[in-house]
Amino acid sequence: AKLQHRGSSQYFSPAMGTDARERFKLLKGLRAGFEENRLFVVYQPQVDLTSGQALGAEALLRWRTEEGNFVPPDQFIPLAEKSGLIISIGEFVLRTACHQTKRMLELGYADFRMCVNVSLAQFRHQDFITTLLRALRDTGVDGRNIELEITESMAMEDTELVMHILADIKRSGITVAIDDFGTGFSSLSHLRQLDVDRLKIDRAFVREAQSSSAGSTIAQMVINLGRGLGLTVIAEGIETEEQRLQLQALGCHEGQGYLFGRPMPAEQLERWMAQGTP
Ligand code: C2E
Ligand code: CA
Ligand code: CA
Ligand code: CA
Repeated sequence: AKLQHRGSSQYFSPAMGTDARERFKLLKGLRAGFEENRLFVVYQPQVDLTSGQALGAEALLRWRTEEGNFVPPDQFIPLAEKSGLIISIGEFVLRTACHQTKRMLELGYADFRMCVNVSLAQFRHQDFITTLLRALRDTGVDGRNIELEITESMAMEDTELVMHILADIKRSGITVAIDDFGTGFSSLSHLRQLDVDRLKIDRAFVREAQSSSAGSTIAQMVINLGRGLGLTVIAEGIETEEQRLQLQALGCHEGQGYLFGRPMPAEQLERWMAQGTP
């Protein structure tokens, strides 16, 4: 795989505190930004740690304000969730990602896996499955090329609902990953109840694994847990070759991180795939 790519994630974050007025202003800006097409999607490659082969990408949302600053998704996604705006923004991400998937299929990457983040609020919305299936149908993409990433905390907050939605969407061939795995306190029994395909180890473990032996023991346990459940394990936030080798040695199958590629616009992803696929 190709090792370096110019980043598209240089954030400038205006001093935004937590008070209600600022949040309201930010939400107003987000609404306007969405309507005026200032939200867009970038893609970060995922690779097989052993072969280095490109497997697919994660779709990540970006918001560029009128002034040209980037507001980090960690700041605006929670607002979008609380306000309900996430329903339409989430649909936009899904449709954009499906379109790009179609494009990758046309370029000959038949097994391309596009990972899309979804919020609990989207799962809770009654039209979620219809929206999802319509996005597939309208773009002519098969479910097996799409993976949904749900966070561990979301899976634990409403396991019952998540279980039902998963049962429904998995019939279309869509796969599911548990994101930020290891940061919550999911019990084994909860995990086993959920029909998921992949565990995505949080970046914090990748960092910790390298800095202390306790950290590496914990990373090992999280990876073993996933493997023990018969799941594919992917680590996010791999920045160095050293980390790649360590995660691979710990039994992690796949990886994502700056070492392989930063989140990038669609055209760049297409070039990256051309170079990153043996
Ligand atoms: P996430 O799903 O855990 O996404 C991974 C984050 O790690 C991304 O941050 C990515 O840019 C960053 N990252 C990837 N590789 C590296 C690395 O090697 N080093 C470091 N330091 N960081 C790395 P980003 O794009 O800022 O997204 C932050 C969060 O916002 C995401 O975390 C996700 O929870 C949320 N998000 C982004 N797009 C969407 C979306 O379309 N829908 C929803 N619901 N949430 C989204
Ligand atoms: Ca994710
Ligand atoms: Ca994550
Ligand atoms: Ca994370």
